[in-house]
Amino acid sequence: MPRPILATIHAQALRHNLARIRLAAPDAKVWGVVKADAYGHGIERVYEGLRGVDGFALLDLREAERVRALGWRGAILLLEGVFEARDLELCSRLNLWHAVHCDEQIDMLATHKTHQPHRVFLKMNSGMNRLGFAPARYRAAWTRLNALPQVDEISLMTHFSDADGPRGIARQLQLFNEITRELPGERTLANSAATLRHGGDPAVRADWIRPGIAAYGSAPDFPDHDIAAWDLQPAMSLATRIIGVQQLAAGDTVGYGSNFTASAPLRIGVAACGYADGYPRHCNTGAPILVDGVRTRIVGRVSMDMITVDLTAVPGAGFGSEVTLWGRAASGAVLSIDEVAQAGGTVGYELMCALAQRVPMVVAD
Ligand SMILES: *Cc1c(COP(=O)(O)O)cnc(C)c1O
Repeated sequence: MPRPILATIHAQALRHNLARIRLAAPDAKVWGVVKADAYGHGIERVYEGLRGVDGFALLDLREAERVRALGWRGAILLLEGVFEARDLELCSRLNLWHAVHCDEQIDMLATHKTHQPHRVFLKMNSGMNRLGFAPARYRAAWTRLNALPQVDEISLMTHFSDADGPRGIARQLQLFNEITRELPGERTLANSAATLRHGGDPAVRADWIRPGIAAYGSAPDFPDHDIAAWDLQPAMSLATRIIGVQQLAAGDTVGYGSNFTASAPLRIGVAACGYADGYPRHCNTGAPILVDGVRTRIVGRVSMDMITVDLTAVPGAGFGSEVTLWGRAASGAVLSIDEVAQAGGTVGYELMCALAQRVPMVVAD
């Protein structure tokens, strides 16, 4: 028998989250962001749950090929555009729309031979200072693109740095609106946080929203809001079982470095999951976890293949009991990936994406 660890992808939760996201941005079309192999869930595994989107957005050409191989004939957007000139051939062949964020990408388009002009998304750097044309250079880039026979429609795009926090989006939004005011074309600005927090503003939701994390059931602005507050459901559950039990006396320690000491007699369970499965090693004593659907805590250090959990709250638990690292337990109890990430000093995004290859994954409805 293999180790009992298993990740389950919930198609129904993906559908629910997508419906919830649409409510936050009425009338906007939705890019389902499936970069990084659908945030670690697997493009093929989320396809059924997410096929209600209007397009898929990602940034790896191999991943675009996989979406086409699934039979998707709708829009696909390359969020970072092409990396070298010959990528444009694949864009032509697979009918991929692509971001254009720098002069080099316009140069490549200008020498590209295609019968089918490309739909491009011209990206403005409105303050994030990662990809995109500076506001002062944006219109010149648009004019240059617009003159190319290789280019069909030009859409307008930017990305917010602080949609999840108190700095907000006002400054970037104003800049984008000012510079693009007289330009034709569809617009896209909002990630999950901007959609959920500011999607009521038609200028923010614009023509297309680009939600990623919310579709997978993580709150983009945790702990300001949790998934219950946003009415989102975990799209992934990571579960394992108790494979051993120890009875500690007061003064006994647990695990490498003996960094947890029992202050009173304590029953602990050993769960088959460790940092080699992608569980964060920083989730030391106190990190939340469910045993038989009951919330308890990790004690001691996370090892490569095992973690140790306090069984005080679940006296009936023992060998074989269900352990939920994040997501939904058999009882229906939910532990959000955001809470686990917080205990490990990171964000839900990283935990999803870092799930190890050795963890088997299945799709359930
Ligand atoms: C990843 C990404 C998104 C999605 O962001 P979330 O925070 O996961 O919703 C949107 N737009 C761009 C350009 C991205 O790279």
